[in-house]
Amino acid sequence: MNATMENIISLCKRRGFLFQGSEIYGGLAGTWDYGPLGVSLKNNIKNLWWRMFVESRDDMHGIDAAIIMNPKVWEASGHVAGFSDPLVECKKCKKRFRADHVGEKCPECGGIFGEVRQFNMMFKTNIGPLEDVSSISYLRPETAGGIFVNFKNIVDTMRPKLPFGVAQIGKAFRNEIAPRDFIFRSREFEQMEIEYFVKPEMWKGQFENFRLAIHDWVRAVGIATERVHELEVGDGDRAHYSKRTIDFEFDFPFGRKELYGLAYRTDFDLTAHATASGQALSMQGGEGEPPIIPHVIEPSFGVDRTVLAVLASSYREDTMNGESRTYLAFNKAVAPVKAAVFPLLKNKPELVGKAHTLYSTLKAKVPQIMWDDNGNIGKRYRRQDEIGTPYCITVDFDTLEDETATVRERDTGEQRRVAITELPSIIGV
Ligand code: ATP
Repeated sequence: MNATMENIISLCKRRGFLFQGSEIYGGLAGTWDYGPLGVSLKNNIKNLWWRMFVESRDDMHGIDAAIIMNPKVWEASGHVAGFSDPLVECKKCKKRFRADHVGEKCPECGGIFGEVRQFNMMFKTNIGPLEDVSSISYLRPETAGGIFVNFKNIVDTMRPKLPFGVAQIGKAFRNEIAPRDFIFRSREFEQMEIEYFVKPEMWKGQFENFRLAIHDWVRAVGIATERVHELEVGDGDRAHYSKRTIDFEFDFPFGRKELYGLAYRTDFDLTAHATASGQALSMQGGEGEPPIIPHVIEPSFGVDRTVLAVLASSYREDTMNGESRTYLAFNKAVAPVKAAVFPLLKNKPELVGKAHTLYSTLKAKVPQIMWDDNGNIGKRYRRQDEIGTPYCITVDFDTLEDETATVRERDTGEQRRVAITELPSIIGV
């Protein structure tokens, strides 16, 4: 079955994955707070991405740039002039909507709309104690800007050869007119982005490599591959500087919507920043070749949309031993808890002691281990299933005799007896 948004949102709140931002004050539209299990899930996703796209490759460098940048960055990139969505206001109830998300009439009251105007989505702030136009800056609306302005620093310090990429994971902020669909469209979110610099004639091959790499990533993180679709963005719909763009869409419970983007951005960004900053943003094309401004392939991944797609792909309901249950079929790499350790009985000190020693030994090797001694074993299994823990390990009286424990597998409910020395390799990721 495919989960509804209600299924996902209620499980996330109930089990400490996600809460409404500023909840005790009635919330703040477009903001969400990750709880203990949510932050573990999100960190695991970001770590997996970093390992796959940065650390396991020889042609990638990571950075972590400032969120607040010199406003000239966003003038050069075109965001000050053009990073806007069309806004309409209902003449009757005064509610505002994104013009491309509504029809002719106000969906709230049926009133008619005024003129469409462009609304810039960058959050403004003031730098320093003076609140005037000279102090205006912005919270970055995407992480890519921090990569382009560090291009020269990377070339000068790391001496890379073309092709090479620079990757960054971090927060981005957009004053979305209508934040909606849980963490799909929020005003503060995270991105994982790569700017991959190539010789102009290489772009087609590298674009194809990243198209395939995105599908590898989808599989690795545990997003249902049959729910991911490529949308070739047509000439009229692409940004003017992009020669090719593919949107990777996912069948979310509320419809097929953009999950990731892959764009060939030519030399638009480096040329714009070179012109505006007066710095030469070029590098040697190859051994003994003259300097060129590289062209760019940009794969862009939303962290929060990944979290939502992983949750939607993992949500299951079934019946086990005559009882209905809900579980998250996370893969081992992203599961916030890799295994839970229980003593069979809570009131037997020898079992509790033995289980606790096992718990500490495992936790030293694999930190995301949980202890649980509340309620009966059946209830503990259900709780762990619901947060997607792949294995439950029970210490019983036999463990005291023969150093074995029961391992129960989440998806099948199968139980087997294993030597406790084997446990790290069973649960290890
Ligand atoms: P949309 O058309 O859905 O507004 P976009 O085309 O503006 O998205 P990009 O500018 O390409 O998005 O941003 C790159 C990625 O960042 C998106 O593919 C998405 O995963 C993520 N992203 C963009 N806006 C948001 C948002 N408001 N909330 C959460 N994630 C977002």
